[in-house]
Amino acid sequence: MMDSPLEGRDFPGSLPELRAWFRSDADCVDYLDWLRWPDGFVCPWCADVGDWGVVPGMHRCAGCGRWVSVGAGTVFHRTHTPLTVWFEAAWLMMASKQGVSALTLQRVTELGSYQSAWTMT
Ligand SMILES: [Zn+2]
Repeated sequence: MMDSPLEGRDFPGSLPELRAWFRSDADCVDYLDWLRWPDGFVCPWCADVGDWGVVPGMHRCAGCGRWVSVGAGTVFHRTHTPLTVWFEAAWLMMASKQGVSALTLQRVTELGSYQSAWTMT
């Protein structure tokens, strides 16, 4: 990617900032998109840079016509948990050098059950 990630530019520096950045799943998808293709979409199948994408989080390659999901191959692909919750969890894990315990995670993300928090970690 680029040089070292910069707090406040490349990732949120605090929890309130994170919440301001990612108010909806669409915001998260935009960010994932940027993380994966900082210089613009490149087709993983044919390396074409053309993009017919019209759906958020999805690109349609102009070269081979395949649909490419920004979340494909990531943990975000098969989950019903809102991306905003995932982002908070991921940020917390990144922010805490010791790693974050499932209990902390549950408290901060206000998840319904300890079990689902644990599954995420
Ligand atoms: Zn392609």
